[in-house]
Amino acid sequence: MTPNIALRTIPRDQHPISRKDISPNALRVLYRLRDAGFAGYLVGGAVRDLLVGGHPKDFDVATDATPEQVKQLFRNCRLIGRRFRLAHVVFGSEIIEVATFRANSDDGSGDREMENGRLVRDNVYGTVEDDAIRRDFTANALYYAIEDFSVRDYVGGFEDVQARTLRLIGDPEQRYREDPVRMLRAVRLAAKLGFSIEAATAEPIARLAPLLSDAAPARLFEEILKLFLSGHAVASFEGLERFGLLGVLLPETAAALASNRSGALRRMLVEGLAGTDRRVANDEPVSPAFLFALLLWPAYCRALMALQAQGVHAEEAQRRAADRVTLHQLNTVALPRRFSLPMQEIWLLQTRFGNRQRKRVMRLLSHPRFRAAFDFLVLRLSASSEHAEDVAFWREAQAQSPEVLAHSLVSVAGATDEEGAAPGRRRRRRRRRTGAASPE
Ligand code: ATP
Ligand code: MG
Repeated sequence: MTPNIALRTIPRDQHPISRKDISPNALRVLYRLRDAGFAGYLVGGAVRDLLVGGHPKDFDVATDATPEQVKQLFRNCRLIGRRFRLAHVVFGSEIIEVATFRANSDDGSGDREMENGRLVRDNVYGTVEDDAIRRDFTANALYYAIEDFSVRDYVGGFEDVQARTLRLIGDPEQRYREDPVRMLRAVRLAAKLGFSIEAATAEPIARLAPLLSDAAPARLFEEILKLFLSGHAVASFEGLERFGLLGVLLPETAAALASNRSGALRRMLVEGLAGTDRRVANDEPVSPAFLFALLLWPAYCRALMALQAQGVHAEEAQRRAADRVTLHQLNTVALPRRFSLPMQEIWLLQTRFGNRQRKRVMRLLSHPRFRAAFDFLVLRLSASSEHAEDVAFWREAQAQSPEVLAHSLVSVAGATDEEGAAPGRRRRRRRRRTGAASPE
């Protein structure tokens, strides 16, 4: 099914995009291209976001100049990518991405490669019309022209944006098969923009969801960060659940949520995501390690219970559950070790909040992951009030000066503490702690 291509030009007085809302650097790039006789448009997410009154975080430009021609126009330009060659024009910390119009058709040159219906290389240049129809959603295929400040629409995207609708360009099933990550993009953009997903675009998702498990794990990691750390985590999560994508992206968490009859784990997860959204709204930092600790906590709890039911000793079971959940998740999502290690620490520290022995308390307070682990403990209150006393104790402990706190706590000199006191193990623990992140 080839989409209908008919140009509709929306003149400046019929759309709200004003130059003052566009990055001055993006404008500079557009003007320079135009002055050199090339076509230059602002395109993609930036045009879409500006139309709905949002503030784009990056501004992409599309042009008929080749990457090499772009490089000749800008001293501050780098060419990047092999699978998808692009020019980056660098202005301090801002990068304007300049892409040459691409076509969807295979010209046999090997510049465009498909594998099992999937696009793995895409360097065939084309016209602006070609460029428009190879984009994913109609709302993402609008072009803002610098010469007359109009918006050019080849696929009905302007109307769809007005109707707050997300619609795939072309045949939805074929477009998802070409690139299954588009299913996640549909859910993510609908959540971010408050758009609804048009029926024919929504229909294949649950059916084709399993294709996602073959997507590149590194790309899925990036998409997860965008889904959950952009301020719309709760809506994204609900969308993933509704369209059957959660079970592919986070299979063990989905299974654990399904078997948790009380709904406590889901409540905690949603509460945690709502907290993340609040932090993003307040411009506070959010960490991937904490996010994954939250997303995989149901899976971890389930694995832990299974191991304990088999009679594995508590501490050993925790370590093994953490490792197992991490390892299984790596089958679909490439979670880098710099995030999985602190994620596991957040989990493993949870059992240490029950200990009131002076030395242990002081040590836990100065642990580099204390704050994250404590925030996580607080979050667990939304699943169960079991730890309310611990939360109160540690909240108080942080408020006191170390001297006052140390004085108020019992020192259990020479006595065994709750964590067991086999001398050999103690020594081992201490050694581990001197290393970088605990390898558990
Ligand atoms: P945001 O930046 O808000 O996450 P975006 O739409 O700008 O959303 P990008 O990943 O920055 O997303 O992509 C820029 C543009 O490239 C999109 O608007 C779309 O036109 C096109 N695009 C991105 N990913 C795909 C894809 N998988 N298939 C087809 N076109 C895509
Ligand atoms: Mg973008």
